[in-house]
This record gives sequence, C-alpha cells and structure tokens, in this order.
Amino acid sequence: MFQKVHVRLASLCAGITIFILFVMSCGYLYISEQGLRSRSFTSFQNDMNTLVSNLEQQTIITHEWLTRIEDHGKYLINVIDNGIPFLYNERNTPEQKLLFETAHEYYKSHYEETPVLTSFGSIWHVEYQFPSDGGHRNNYYACVTFSERGSSTLQVTILCSMEPILAQIRIQRLLFFTLDLLASAVLALFSWYFTKRILKPLEENQKQQNQFIASASHELRTPLAVILSCASASARASDEERIHFLDSIHAEGLRMSRLIEDMLLLTKAGNYRWTIRKEPAELDTLLLDTFEAFEPAARERSILLAIELPEDAVPTILCDPERIRQVLSILLHNALSYTPAHGQVHLSLVNDGKYIRLIVKDNGIGIPDEDKKKIFERFYRADSSRSEKGHFGLGLCIAQEIVYAHHGRIQVGDTPGGGSTFSVVLPLPSQFGL
Ligand code: ADP
Repeated sequence: MFQKVHVRLASLCAGITIFILFVMSCGYLYISEQGLRSRSFTSFQNDMNTLVSNLEQQTIITHEWLTRIEDHGKYLINVIDNGIPFLYNERNTPEQKLLFETAHEYYKSHYEETPVLTSFGSIWHVEYQFPSDGGHRNNYYACVTFSERGSSTLQVTILCSMEPILAQIRIQRLLFFTLDLLASAVLALFSWYFTKRILKPLEENQKQQNQFIASASHELRTPLAVILSCASASARASDEERIHFLDSIHAEGLRMSRLIEDMLLLTKAGNYRWTIRKEPAELDTLLLDTFEAFEPAARERSILLAIELPEDAVPTILCDPERIRQVLSILLHNALSYTPAHGQVHLSLVNDGKYIRLIVKDNGIGIPDEDKKKIFERFYRADSSRSEKGHFGLGLCIAQEIVYAHHGRIQVGDTPGGGSTFSVVLPLPSQFGL
C-alpha cells in the first residue's frame, strides 16, 4: 500500500513542481524573446537612421556608395529612380528580386504608396518587419526611403535578414528546454526521496501496529484455546473435574483481561492519551508501600526482598503516585519472576540532588547485552521459555512509557556477580526551575 502511495505522492509532487518550472521558463523565455526582438529591431532602425542621414548628404548615388552600404552582404539594396530600377539592382539574384517584390507588396498594403515630400533632399523613411515566405512569422527587416531630388523621387529599399536573431532565439529555446529536462529529472529524483522520507515514519508506525496486532492476537489465542478446550471438556466431565475446568477458565479469563488492559494502556500511550494525575508525592513512602505489598510473594518464592532508603528526608516530587507504583510493581514482579529461589532482590532510593533514582536490583538470571535494548519493545521476551505464564512482554514497555511521561528515563544494567539492575531516574523539581 505504501509503495502505491509513495509512487502517487512522488508523481504529484514532481508533476506540480515540473509544471511550475515549465510555466515559469516559458514566461521567462517569452519576455526574453520579446526583448531580443525589440532590441534587434531598434538596432536596425538606428542603423537605418544613420544610413538615411548619409543618403541625405549624397548628391549622386554611386555604385561604390551602394556597395559600402551593403556591408558585406548584411543588407540588400534596391534603388528605383522615378519608377525606373537602377542598373545596380541587376546584381541581385532572382530570389533576392522576389524578396524585394514581397517587401514592396507588404509596404503597399500597409503604408501610403508615395509620401508627399516638400523640399529638395528631404527624406521620408519607414522600417518594418515582414514574412518573406508569405507566412505569419516575420523573418526580414525592411526600410523604404523616399527622397526628393529635383523633379525625380528616389526610392531606396534596404532589406536585412532576421536569421541571426532567430538563430539566437532557437539556441536559447534549446538551452532552456535542455536545462528544464535536467531540472525535471533532478526534481523527480528529489520528489521520490523526499516523499519516501516523509512516508517512512508512517510506514514504520504501520509496521509496528501490524506487529502489535499480530503479537496481541497470538498472545490472546493461547488463553482462548485453553478456555475453549476446558469448556468443551467440561460438558463430558465429572463434577470434580468440572470445578477444575472452571478454575482454569477463570484463571485464563483473568489472564486475558490483564493482557487486554495492558494493551489498552499501551495504545493510549501511543496516542498520547495517558491520564497522568500529578500531585506532590513522597517517593520513600511509595517505595516502602510497594515493598510491603511484594513481601508475601517474595517469601512464598523463598527470595530475600530488602529495602534501603536514605537517612535524610527525600524531597517530595510532582508525579502520579499510582503510575510510579505501577512501574515499581512491574520491576519487582520481573525481579521476583527471573530470580531463582534463595536469591535476593534489593529495592533502594538514591537522591543525588538533581535526580531521584529508584533502583531494583536482583541476582537472578540476568539479561544478555544484546537483549538489553529490545526488552523495552512490545511483546519482547528475552527467553520466552523461561518466562512465567503471566508474562506477555509488555511490562517494561508500559513502565518505560510511564517514566517518559514523567520526563524521566529507565535504565538496565548488570548486577555485579550476576543478575539485573533496573533504575528509574526521575528529575527533581529544581531540574525544571521549580
Ligand atoms: P514480561 O511480561 O515478559 O516480563 P517485560 O516487558 O516486563 O515482559 O520484560 C521483557 C523481558 O525482559 C522479559 O521477558 C525477560 O526476558 C526480561 N526481563 C525483564 N526483567 C528481567 C529481570 N529482572 N531479570 C531477567 N530478565 C528480565
């Protein structure tokens, strides 16, 4: 599912950014081309102004002058004196002659055929662009001049190809297109990795949820199977056996209910819906209460349970006493479960001025280094074969969530000589500037 979402999101992200890139590039290209065309036409007009003022000073139009004006083929010139073409025009090729005809036709259809010239030597001229091939795209500049020379009117037409500027525009377009293609490839790659990064936490969350559901179903199946088999067996059982089956059903039912409670607790923690009711609490009293609650269980297992509290008064801290009691119970329950008979479990409180440490130390089976991090994961059991029936692998995970909600941390280490030591580190109010 995530693969599909990833592909769609990456395509959408890349599509939008590439579309914006192309629209912006086209806009920039259009403005740039307009600028190029207008600068080029202005330059042609300036050249023609110079040429016209030069023409004004010529009393006789010589072939040398015309050849010089042509500027090595940059301009094409056609001269008509009183309606009669100059001999110079014969140098033009048939294509060039056709070009002049097109330019004149364009001129006739857009301007007055012969302007009224009043004084001798005065010149009228106009510059325009026209399509030489009869199409819609202008590809030639033209300048038509009329000058009054006594009784005759001299018409000089100058043409200049727009090919250099059109070639420049084509190169610019090609360059932009290539750059846009490269940028699109980079954007597509970026979108792919960017959306992958965004989706990664969601994917992991989904994976964790799936794993949680799978593990929860697995854990629930065992007591459920016992309940079902006891229920079906009790139908054919004697009264005495039936009581035994009912006891089993009750015990497994309790087990299921505890597991469901734990799972709901963790789901709430995952959704940040913990209800932590903080109030000033004396941790030494809390520790003593928990110690007393576990004493009978320790005695039953022949385990020596001891407690050590500091001599000085322990400052009260703001916490949820019920939740902290729950953490201590989880740690003590584990310590008693994973410590063999005649072992020792030691409960203590240390105040170092900044933090209060609640320490549960046992000399039981210990936890291998490679498992120390994993034991805080949901449903993780270092060695399920050594776990008791009531252990689902959720206890430490719940304890960790509670401690985090109190801005503290939970650590695990080895007890010198064997066993495990769990420490719950809670910050004193001074750590928060209280
Ligand atoms: P469980 O309900 O299985 O005890 P926990 O989350 O409380 O689940 O603990 C996870 C695993 O960590 C246990 O299955 C056990 O393997 C290991 N563990 C926890 N506490 C101790 C301990 N005091 N000594 C040895 N192993 C422990």
